[in-house]
Amino acid sequence: MEIERKLEILSSSAKFDVACSPGTSDRKNKNVIDSTNIAGIYHSWSSTGKCFSLLKVLFSNACIYNCAYCINRRSNNIPRATFTVNELVNLTMNFYKKGYIDGLFLSSAVIKNPDFTMEQLINVAKKLRMEENFKGYIHLKIIPGADEKLVEEAGFYANRVSVNVELPTAKSLKLLAPEKNPDSIQKPLILSSKKHLETISHAKKFKHVKIFSPDGQTTQLIVGATSESDKKIMLLANKLYKNYKLKRVYYSAYIAVNKDKRLPPTSESITRENRLYQADFLIRKYNFTVEELFEKTENLDLRIDPKTKWALEHPEFFPIEINKASYDELIRIPGIGIKSAKKILLARKVHALNFDDLKKIGIALKRAQYFITCNGKKYNKNKDLMPLFSFDFTNKVKDFNTFYSHQLLFFNL
Ligand code: SF4
Repeated sequence: MEIERKLEILSSSAKFDVACSPGTSDRKNKNVIDSTNIAGIYHSWSSTGKCFSLLKVLFSNACIYNCAYCINRRSNNIPRATFTVNELVNLTMNFYKKGYIDGLFLSSAVIKNPDFTMEQLINVAKKLRMEENFKGYIHLKIIPGADEKLVEEAGFYANRVSVNVELPTAKSLKLLAPEKNPDSIQKPLILSSKKHLETISHAKKFKHVKIFSPDGQTTQLIVGATSESDKKIMLLANKLYKNYKLKRVYYSAYIAVNKDKRLPPTSESITRENRLYQADFLIRKYNFTVEELFEKTENLDLRIDPKTKWALEHPEFFPIEINKASYDELIRIPGIGIKSAKKILLARKVHALNFDDLKKIGIALKRAQYFITCNGKKYNKNKDLMPLFSFDFTNKVKDFNTFYSHQLLFFNL
C-alpha cells in the first residue's frame, strides 16, 4: 500500500483520540504554510498558549480487540493499515524538516499483543531520537497491558505519555471493552507517575539524569457511552489528578460510529463535553471542589456555565465589593478570570477602582456587573437591562428563581 494511503487511513483512525495537547517545546523554525490540509496534521495549543502542529497518527488500526465504541474494533469492515517503523520515521522527519510539524502524537490499535505494539511505538521514538536526532515533541500512547520495562523505556524517549482510561468505571469497561481490564490501565498510570516524580527528584541531586516523560502524563475519558453522571466523572478526574499527578484529563463526547445494542443510539452532545472542561478548569485553577459544583445535582447544567451556575445558586456570596475582595473571592465572580483578578489586585494598590477602571483593565462587565459593587455602588450604565436584573441580594431566596430565570434569558440559554 502507498504511504499516502496509509497516512490517510491511520490519521483518520487517530482523530478520536483527543489527549494530545503538548506541554512545551522549543521549536522556533515554523514554516508559515498552512499545513492543516495535509492528512494527519493537527493544530493544538500548549499549556502556555502556543500553537503547535502535530502529526497525529496510529501506528496501526488493525486491532485484535473489539471495544464496542471504537471505529477500529476488529469486527468493523474498514480499510486497515499498519506503518513500518521506517515508514513512520521517514514521514515524521520529512514533515518536520519542511516545518509542517512540531512533533508526533503516536498511538496504535493493539496488533498481535500489547507488548509487540508498545515495542513498535518505542522503536519509532527511539529511531527518531537516537538516529535522526529529532528534537521535536513526542507524545506516546502507553498500550494497556504492556510490560513495565517497555513503559519505562517509552517515557525516556517521549516528552509526554498517556494511558487512556476511556470508561469511567470497571463495570462500564466490562460492558463495552471486556478484553481490557482495569488493572492493565491502572498499572501504567501508577508506574508513569512514579517514574516521573522519581527522576525529577534524582535530577535535583545529580547531573545528566534523564527525566521520564518530562511533560507528565494525560488521559482521556469517553463521556456518554455509558450512564455515569458528570459528578461521577469529575470525582474520577479529581482522583486521577491527585493520585497520578496527571497534567490533563481530556473529555471526549461519545461519537456513535458503531451500531451495538450496548451503546446509546446517538452521539453525546458536545456541550456536555465543554461543560466538563469548564468544571475541570474551575477545580484545577479556581479552587472549586467537585462537591461545590454538584451540590444540588448529579449533572452540569447544559444551559449555563458551571461558574455562573454556582454564583446564581449562591446569592449569599454576592455582591462582592471589588475594592475589598480577596483573590479567592474575585475569581468566583462570573466574568472575572485569574488574569483579571490579579490585575484588579495590582490596580487597587494605586487607587480605589470604579467601573470605568474595570473596563480599562478588560473585565467582562457584561457578565460581572450583576455580582459586584465598586465603592458600594452597583453598575447602572445600561438602563434598559438594570430593571431586569435588579435583584436584591438581601432578599435572597425569595427573588432567586426570578433572578435565575432572568439570567438564563439574558445569556440566551
Ligand atoms: S483497543 Fe479497543 S479502543 Fe483501542 S483501538 Fe482496539 S478496539 Fe479501539
